[in-house]
Amino acid sequence: MTSLQTRIETIQQRIATAAQKANRDPASVQLVAVSKRQPAEAIRAAYDCGLRDFGENYVQELTAKAEALRDLENLRWHLIGHLQTNKAKYVVKVAQYVHTLDNPRVIDELSRRAEQAGGQLNVSIEVNIGDEAQKSGCLPQEAEALVAHVARAPNLRLMGLMTVGQYVSDSEAARPTFASLRRLRDRIAPGCGLSMGMSGDFEVAIEEGSTCVRVGSAIFGERS
Ligand SMILES: *Cc1c(COP(=O)(O)O)cnc(C)c1O
Repeated sequence: MTSLQTRIETIQQRIATAAQKANRDPASVQLVAVSKRQPAEAIRAAYDCGLRDFGENYVQELTAKAEALRDLENLRWHLIGHLQTNKAKYVVKVAQYVHTLDNPRVIDELSRRAEQAGGQLNVSIEVNIGDEAQKSGCLPQEAEALVAHVARAPNLRLMGLMTVGQYVSDSEAARPTFASLRRLRDRIAPGCGLSMGMSGDFEVAIEEGSTCVRVGSAIFGERS
């Protein structure tokens, strides 16, 4: 067994344990392997270990890797970094999921481009739940209108809400952020999912209801 395979199995086991601890079905938590700044060959190796969902932050890097790996069947690309409106046309060609919509213009443009490309895109609204200056995402009080905006976009399907926890060494510090995104979801998008949790805090996120964890360094090691 390779060390990559061991790391992947360890993460899957930790996801299952966290879900069970919260009385949740482990299958209700999707794992997206965040492959930013990792070479295409690392993604291929993770695919060979059984992973199918990969997340990238930058549109150009996503497009290049999708091209290099287009022979891999059923691989699903997730854009998890901020999306500028003028890049929407590239994203619809390769990604099936966009986690980071945070304004009406980008929603309209992505829907229009998805229609042209003849497909449907799964999207989440990114919320800057703690209103932290350095983060992208809409303000919590803007999220409801954006959820309604996506509902009116014919070629987008709402997955749910997304956030990035606070960057701190103690994973517990992210818990209030995750709990508050869950409460917002319960209020404005009941039945939808929650994209939250990274290498340092995915177990806490699952305990708080995450349906999609985005794990990079714990799978691939440190980024170059
Ligand atoms: C980089 C990144 C991740 C993964 O981070 P790790 O700490 O390496 O697991 C998850 N989500 C977003 C939005 C990121 O930018």
